[in-house]
Amino acid sequence: MKERKGNVSKKWIVLLCVMVCAFLPAHTDAAPKVRLNKTKVTVKHTHKFKECRKVSPTCTEEGYVLYQCASCEATEKRDVKEALGHKAECEEIKEYPTDEANGVAESVCGRCGEVLEQKEITLQDLYTYVFRNGGVVITEFSGEYGGEIDIPDIIEGKNVIGIGSSAFEDCSGLSSVNIPESVTSIGYCAFGDCSRLSSVSIPGSVTGIGNYAFSGCSNLSSVSIAEGVTRIGDSAFYNCSGLSSINIPVV
Ligand SMILES: [Zn+2]
Ligand SMILES: [Zn+2]
Repeated sequence: MKERKGNVSKKWIVLLCVMVCAFLPAHTDAAPKVRLNKTKVTVKHTHKFKECRKVSPTCTEEGYVLYQCASCEATEKRDVKEALGHKAECEEIKEYPTDEANGVAESVCGRCGEVLEQKEITLQDLYTYVFRNGGVVITEFSGEYGGEIDIPDIIEGKNVIGIGSSAFEDCSGLSSVNIPESVTSIGYCAFGDCSRLSSVSIPGSVTGIGNYAFSGCSNLSSVSIAEGVTRIGDSAFYNCSGLSSINIPVV
């Protein structure tokens, strides 16, 4: 009898333990943690957006005004403006063509400076010319090219002796020009209204500079004229508002 009584009470204790174990973990898991999680997820508010910064569009990226919520990290782009796209300006010559070899020109974006295209060029792409007095006179320079220009001294085996009337007129991409020692004359308005042209050097081989040769070159700030020039035409530097002084050799 004693043994049976002991067994019965042991069974009750085991049962009690099982019940307690079954309830306890469920209670501790359920109560506080879930509530905490719920509060995190369910906090909602209406964003109050304030202007944060303005971003201007570039060649490749859109522009916008960025707004950020005063109470959270949320951002929103407004007034979105399309990327501007590259703006091809005149092509710059990287390698000068000669009678024997082609050169290389680069098309560069005027806004960001990125090289958009490279292509081979010949002297004939750059210059139109005539043969006169045993030499070559350049009658026109192709306005699609700019930058620093080295005028060749030989074309088709002949000396380049002259730069004709209006040959470089309105070449707005031209920034500086080197005239070779073979040239003896610069024509009327030869470099007229080259608005970006900032420097020019005229070699001693040039004896005459035509009327209005550099008129309207508003950006021209440096002109060097070598000894040998005997005639500078009327108004050769008319309306060159950036020019403060020129050294003219005394003949
Ligand atoms: Zn917010
Ligand atoms: Zn660009």
